[in-house]
Amino acid sequence: MRRTDKLLVVGAHPDDCEFGAGGTSFEWARLGTEVHFAVVTDGSKGSADRLLGEVDLVKLRESEQRAAAAHLGVTGCHFLGFADGELSWSVALHRALVKLIRELKPHTVLTHSPEPLDHRAFSGRGPSVNHRDHRAVGQCVLDAVYPSARNPNEFQELELDPHCVEQVGLWGGRFADTTVSCREGVRKKAEALALHSSQFPDEESLFALAQNWGDTETFELVRLA
Ligand SMILES: [Zn+2]
Repeated sequence: MRRTDKLLVVGAHPDDCEFGAGGTSFEWARLGTEVHFAVVTDGSKGSADRLLGEVDLVKLRESEQRAAAAHLGVTGCHFLGFADGELSWSVALHRALVKLIRELKPHTVLTHSPEPLDHRAFSGRGPSVNHRDHRAVGQCVLDAVYPSARNPNEFQELELDPHCVEQVGLWGGRFADTTVSCREGVRKKAEALALHSSQFPDEESLFALAQNWGDTETFELVRLA
């Protein structure tokens, strides 16, 4: 995948951007790419601690996400605020993503595969179910990139110039075929994930798991320009 000057990574939940593309984000940022993370949901279902209220959890996860992104050299974090666990393809999500793409004008977008299974071998157990929010984000990002963000006749009410994204990389799908080498990046990715303390209270297990991640990230690449 060709490194470009501006990268947008879109994840459904706080920590998804790091899991999917934290290594690539770090490597590209240190080579001069302006990197942005967009988190679509508020992460309000991401805790087994019932004493922690939803509002407090949303605030906590946002602050963890900002710290993790800063650790990777990410320039901007954008929180779209949709309800966790309830995403489906919708005009509201489609419009929000077109707006973000037209505002930020990224050359590369990295996001979830919309396929039903996630084939990344994070656990060493083979494919896992790709969360419904991940699938919805993957599909909506693709639809926003092509054709909506580039089509001047769509979403004119946003009053933003159309923008052509050059390439999209999808993580987690069956057809991932493009590898980004990121030895240092994978180490930084594990450190960034550890900053999501509400999700990974046991840092040692996380770092032990990270031993199996190798020194690459893999994407299915779609060239659009
Ligand atoms: Zn997720």
